[in-house]
Amino acid sequence: MLLANRGNPQSIQPDLVKALADLSGQLNEDHLVWDQRAEFPWHKWEIIKQLGLFGLPFPEDFGGLGEDITTTMKILEALGYRCEDAGLNMATSTQIVSVGVPLFRFGSEAQKQHYLPKICSGEVACAHAITEPGGGSDAFGMATTAQLRDNGNYLLNGTKAFITNGPIANLFAIYAMTNPSLGALGGGSVFLVEQGTPGFSVGEPIPKMGLKTLQLAQLQFKDCEIGANKILGKVGLGFPILEYVMKWEILCGFAINVGEMQRRLEKCIDYAKHRKQFGRPIGSYQAIAHKIVDMQIGVTTAREQLYRTAGKVQRKENSTIDLAIAKVVTSEANVQSALNAVQIFGGKGYMAEYGIEKELRNAIAGTIYSGTSEIQRNKIASLLGL
Ligand SMILES: Cc1cc2nc3c(=O)[nH]c(=O)nc-3n(C[C@H](O)[C@H](O)[C@H](O)COP(=O)(O)OP(=O)(O)OC[C@H]3O[C@@H](n4cnc5c(N)ncnc54)[C@H](O)[C@@H]3O)c2cc1C
Repeated sequence: MLLANRGNPQSIQPDLVKALADLSGQLNEDHLVWDQRAEFPWHKWEIIKQLGLFGLPFPEDFGGLGEDITTTMKILEALGYRCEDAGLNMATSTQIVSVGVPLFRFGSEAQKQHYLPKICSGEVACAHAITEPGGGSDAFGMATTAQLRDNGNYLLNGTKAFITNGPIANLFAIYAMTNPSLGALGGGSVFLVEQGTPGFSVGEPIPKMGLKTLQLAQLQFKDCEIGANKILGKVGLGFPILEYVMKWEILCGFAINVGEMQRRLEKCIDYAKHRKQFGRPIGSYQAIAHKIVDMQIGVTTAREQLYRTAGKVQRKENSTIDLAIAKVVTSEANVQSALNAVQIFGGKGYMAEYGIEKELRNAIAGTIYSGTSEIQRNKIASLLGL
């Protein structure tokens, strides 16, 4: 690791935040070129690996940094602030939350001992697969099945769609129905599946609108035989595990967006102070100043909602409505902030070489993954008794 072993009980947060600032030049080198190529920047993944970020919330016994969820979020927010490659940032949060988080909470001791140190060190890259070509919002309706065989193993059959890190991962958490008749009430399970397992294939990277360095793929399972010892937790725990993972995915993934919004806001303030039209800085025009104020309101509201919710999660209080609100508020504030930035930068905002239009393309994805805005609003409505 780039940072010396901790050797003290203090949080490593200030050191990591400083290290991210020091390494931002390397993290951002040619980020527009990498975006254009839509390739995964392995050499930058190496920097994240060296910093130890993949092990943020996991105990030191497993090679992690042992930070709590709020501190993990603060460090990921700093990553979003310093690193302009939002695809790399999302690959990093997926590495932490997709397998490591449920493994640590639900995994057997043998599974933890086997996989967690490799996840913390970045020796294995991780992905998780819930969405299918037939649907993502209706996760309970998934069609992928895992059938118990006479020998005690399971046969996985089905297709998963839009899987983040699919083309780069070697360890996958696959959600499948072990008893479809039970539906959400014990019908689903999670399997730890390694790349290269016979019957499991990964498609080509999928071209997309934004987050271009992030690699997504379709996964295919054809009579893929998995041992019962690869079930995470126990049979039937699939949907409770998914709910737990979504908490972490929203808090960690969108804390990164807060950092990205903060960086964009500061860039816009600077530009509005220096860009002159009609003899005055454009920021002196209320129309521009108000856009910047709205960006400030967006990032402040998102940050407060996310960290307040993290506090509730940490105290094990009911946070279902808070998480849904945090997800909607942050993802939509991010889109609006990116849209405002394009307008504030005028023609430069629209041209690829300034990196502003990329932010808008990236931000839009956040209203889709981790439960769309519509699904989050449905959740809030039902919690309001509607
Ligand atoms: C960048 C990115 C990364 C992703 N990474 C992963 C990953 O790692 N793993 C994974 O499993 N999936 C991943 N996904 C998939 C993502 O989770 C799904 O795209 C998402 O859940 C929506 O599912 P869908 O695309 O099937 O759309 P649908 O579910 O078909 O929805 C289409 C539209 O209808 C709306 N809609 C659906 N049902 C309702 C309803 N009841 N009420 C109102 N509106 C409704 C939706 O909000 C949406 O606007 C990723 C997606 C993106 C964009």
